[in-house]
Amino acid sequence: MLELSTSVQYVKGIGPRLAEVLAAKGIHTLDDLLHYLPFRYEDRLNPRGIAELRAGEMATVIAEVRTSGLFRTRRMPIFQMTAGQGRARLKCMWFNATYLRDKFKPGQIVALYGKVEEDFRSGEIQLMQPQFEIIGDALEDVSADATEQKLAASLEIGRIVPIYESAGQGRVTSRWFRRVIHAALENLTSDFPDPIPAAVRRHLSLIPPREALWKVHWPEPGESFQDLQASRTPAHIRLIFEELFFVELGLELKRREQKAQTGIAFHLDERVRAAIKKILPFHPTTAQKRALKEIASDMERPSPMRRLLQGDVGSGKTIVAFEAAIIAMENGYQVALMAPTEILAQQHYFSARRILEAAGYRVVLLTGSMEDDRKRETRRHIAQGNAQLVIGTHALIEQTVEFARIGLVIVDEQHRFGVLQRFKLMRKSSEERVGRSPTNSPAAEPDVLVMTATPIPRTLALTLYGDLDVSVIDEMPPGRTPIVTKRVSDERSSEVWDFVRKQVAAGHQTYVVYPVIEENEETELKAAIKMYKELSTRIFPDLRIGLLHGRMEADLKEQVMRLFQKGELDILVSTTVIEVGVDVANATMMVIEHAERFGLAQLHQLRGRIGRGAAKSYCVLMTGGKISEDGERRLDAMVRTSDGFQIAELDLELRGPGEFFGTRQAGMPNF
Ligand code: ADP
Ligand code: MG
Repeated sequence: MLELSTSVQYVKGIGPRLAEVLAAKGIHTLDDLLHYLPFRYEDRLNPRGIAELRAGEMATVIAEVRTSGLFRTRRMPIFQMTAGQGRARLKCMWFNATYLRDKFKPGQIVALYGKVEEDFRSGEIQLMQPQFEIIGDALEDVSADATEQKLAASLEIGRIVPIYESAGQGRVTSRWFRRVIHAALENLTSDFPDPIPAAVRRHLSLIPPREALWKVHWPEPGESFQDLQASRTPAHIRLIFEELFFVELGLELKRREQKAQTGIAFHLDERVRAAIKKILPFHPTTAQKRALKEIASDMERPSPMRRLLQGDVGSGKTIVAFEAAIIAMENGYQVALMAPTEILAQQHYFSARRILEAAGYRVVLLTGSMEDDRKRETRRHIAQGNAQLVIGTHALIEQTVEFARIGLVIVDEQHRFGVLQRFKLMRKSSEERVGRSPTNSPAAEPDVLVMTATPIPRTLALTLYGDLDVSVIDEMPPGRTPIVTKRVSDERSSEVWDFVRKQVAAGHQTYVVYPVIEENEETELKAAIKMYKELSTRIFPDLRIGLLHGRMEADLKEQVMRLFQKGELDILVSTTVIEVGVDVANATMMVIEHAERFGLAQLHQLRGRIGRGAAKSYCVLMTGGKISEDGERRLDAMVRTSDGFQIAELDLELRGPGEFFGTRQAGMPNF
């Protein structure tokens, strides 16, 4: 019998080599393996007959491979396979799928899942790019253990079948997971205590944990297929509840621990108020005033502040954070301001210099790309307490920065910063206090203010942040004009470039943004640079164009940014590094290439870079190639609304909470 804590390498069919592959997926114990849930199910109990398929539906079909082959067309290679059920035939096609060349053999039984489409010429029904699984081999190895073969077959057809994400670059397939998980469940100990208190269980009619694990992987025939796909079966509910229950429990413990800590009671007298008034370059909006009031009253209290400052891009969070910083600095404490990217840290540093240094506060910048000597020097200033406001990237956390007297930590999260990192900094600053300044009550925790640009749906904020109080800036500074957003296919790019030219002629500036995502960084960066060359030599040879991307040296990045800020560049071609924080009021246009590939939150962030001045601004979402259903919904949402709350809600719906925070790997729950 297997215990939940057993290492997966001792589970039948796994062993040390595959255990390593699983470890990369975060699966270490049997418990982890059993919580590796199917991401969807296939109804192979009632698979569809080819003859009854209708265009437009998603369908599972089990059929026999008849013929297959690779065709080269002028545009791309297409792999085609014809599957049959008796006399009925179904054509399946995959684009660019040379890798399928030797995949199928006639006579094999395959399960296919995909969208049914009608060939527009022949009117024939076909499956486009279906997911597939070979579930029975035509040339069965006669020496193979007959009973195991039978068992495997019965796991594959004649029931609702769980589909798992494969692992180890396809080495560990969905089919493999099915066999191994099924065997593990069969050998699982029946001594299975339920960690959820009986009263709670009864109240919510939760099914027992062992049953939940069985049924989530191997649903019973009567189970509603819709509920399964939506993760709404009693088995799912039980498992989701359990996860939520323990996260909440953990948060509650943390809350209690936090309440027991002592913080700093800052004084807020006339002198401090006057210092704040002195730096304000404009009249704060009512929302900004309200946020500051809430922050200030937290800061005056002796318990540590844990507050979220939430406001859409451009709503003016920075100045509010600076005001809070003044309260701390005027009380003789240091302030740390952390940004998710180096460019944003620099941006904050520019504004802090303009606004705070001018008023006599000592501001330093500390980022990973600084020379070691300068870093050391800066750290010394911080440790000695000379530096009052320290601005930097997570280099601040990762390297050993010691503060003489840290009083306030501001995290500009912009929805990218992991929640976990934030807690790390808090912990660190308290350790530092213990070590560094034994004279000021060593247990005092610094106040923490988290700024976030993407509005976080309230329920999610509560779950993730526990007891963070929330201040919302729900009003834009005056003088903004709404942004006109249009989507345009890249076949019409010349019209777009003509419009860019008009904007430049009117004295305005334009961003052109290219997607570069990490997985394909090399090739996509090349494409971005190529387009930059194309724009600067062929399309706009007479205009001043700059390039900005993540792989550039920090100094060069800063230089390019400055030029654009000063209006010495007409067009800035950029990857998403400009996503956050850049502030150029004269930029009135943004062209986003391959907009279908960006996430919704990201598009919204990007668009927030324009419309910062009084002139009318335009955002063009250029699309090229095939757009997924979700992609369509994202583009629609962008054209329809610029309300950050609506966008965030839809984004959450489309992506789930893990990706919403960009912290899927960092152990965020998916529930
Ligand atoms: P975000 O909330 O996205 O961080 P910022 O703090 O960068 O927004 O502010 C966006 C722009 O609005 C900045 O140029 C800032 O100077 C300006 N701004 C902020 N508050 C006001 C205000 N009350 N009146 C006029 N301009 C403001
Ligand atoms: Mg900002």
